[in-house]
Amino acid sequence: MTMQPGFADLALPDLRLRVGDDILPATGAVDVEDPSTGATVAQVPLAGDTAVDAAVAAARAALVAPAWRDLAPLARERLLHRLADAMEADLPRLAALEALDTGKPLTMAETVDIPSAIAWLRCYAGWPSKLAGRAGTLSATPGDYHVYTRREPVGVVAAITPWNFPLVLAMWKIAPALAAGCTLILKPAAETPLSALRLAELARAVGFPPGVFTVLTGDGATGAALSRHPGVAKVAFTGSTATGGAILAASVPDFKRVTLELGGKSPSIVCADADLAKAIPQVAMGCFFNSGQICYAGSRAYVHRSIYDQVLDGLADVGAALRLGPSADRESQLGPLVSARQQARVAGFVARARDAGIAAVERRVTLPETGHFLAPTVLRDVPPDAEVAREEVFGPVLAVTAFDDLDEAIALSNDSAYGLAAHVWTRDHATAHHAAARLEAGTVFANCILVADPAFPFGGMKASGIGRENGSEVLDAYLEPKSVIMAL
Ligand code: NAD
Repeated sequence: MTMQPGFADLALPDLRLRVGDDILPATGAVDVEDPSTGATVAQVPLAGDTAVDAAVAAARAALVAPAWRDLAPLARERLLHRLADAMEADLPRLAALEALDTGKPLTMAETVDIPSAIAWLRCYAGWPSKLAGRAGTLSATPGDYHVYTRREPVGVVAAITPWNFPLVLAMWKIAPALAAGCTLILKPAAETPLSALRLAELARAVGFPPGVFTVLTGDGATGAALSRHPGVAKVAFTGSTATGGAILAASVPDFKRVTLELGGKSPSIVCADADLAKAIPQVAMGCFFNSGQICYAGSRAYVHRSIYDQVLDGLADVGAALRLGPSADRESQLGPLVSARQQARVAGFVARARDAGIAAVERRVTLPETGHFLAPTVLRDVPPDAEVAREEVFGPVLAVTAFDDLDEAIALSNDSAYGLAAHVWTRDHATAHHAAARLEAGTVFANCILVADPAFPFGGMKASGIGRENGSEVLDAYLEPKSVIMAL
């Protein structure tokens, strides 16, 4: 196991399969790779059905005894804040672990991933004491009644997460679920388990009761075992639309609660009056950031014909100027794709687009010699029915098309199976509000990119998912409202 020199002193977390206070045998092992070098840097246990059963049993036991859900709300808040404190103190190590197995630049993990994960935890840490039900009166029933609602945790949650923002996307689920009084089993992506295992260590160190938060490493089979387990009340998933469909199907026998954050093919509409000095670099980074491995990447751009050539050139220039390099190098702006599989998958999209006659705006980019790197690519005059305009590529590939009027651009944007995000670039607020009302997307960005915040809901329409994360809205996904109707 060889480490990049920049990570030579990095201590890995305890990799063993741990449920509560027990260390369990694994059914196999999963290699964890550094995508910047292709070297194997760790092996984590594969959790099989027995471990899944044990984790669910521990999570169910923790729910009722020693009464995680009945803990005084302020005591739960204090524990969540203590975990956030521990993450702050551990930020350099968490960031290095995150950069090591995702391949993302260390500076990005330090300034974006880990601070965001902490912010989410802090935000939801304040909720337990505010989760009151409500009292009211009946409207169609004569007589005297005392009526109120309770908001009770749904039970054991399985969080199944992807490799692009491992700790952030896990925390989008962990923080509201634990705040709501649920217990949670996290199944991180096979490629990127290291930050989750470190988080589990920190949770143990700050005093989380055994079984409240468990990390089970493994592959898709581990996720599938969790998602069909009758002891799991709710599955919170982020990842591909295909796997989301499998999880939804697995939820049917037990009528599990399910929230799904799935893929996207998010459009950016660049109007003729846009401030191009801001729009060009941001439209480019809205697609290329994290090497394009973002669920709400702006991977299609519709550009007004009057500015089309200027914008195309500008987008390609931004991509070509980005410094690609290994995660430990503090000068790197873009890392590799997460795996050889993803690199081949994304390269396949580009090759098929070229075979179909779609041209790229050519720029010379030097790629590092090792690692799963791909150059940012801007494809021009992409027809609406092209594969690269319809499918989620999940790489640094931007499909650009010209439009003549705004309603045409909105129609092109909405002509998609997905509906996660959409962007509009204009100086005219009326145009922005017009587009915002008509775009079929869970989030519309006007003159900005990649803003996600715990205060506002995030999620997709159509094949981009079911339900919402973030905001106060996400708490409903982890709580069952119960009406209590008492005759007086
Ligand atoms: P995936 O959806 O298969 O994996 C995501 C998570 O689901 C992982 O933890 C995986 O182990 C687990 N999983 C896999 N099969 C499962 C099953 N049958 N039941 C339960 N859990 C299961 O994603 P992938 O194969 O790693 O990536 C493929 C494509 O998915 C990417 O190219 C990209 O297009 C898309 N993707 C989207 C996002 C996103 O944020 N929307 C994130 C990652 C990948």
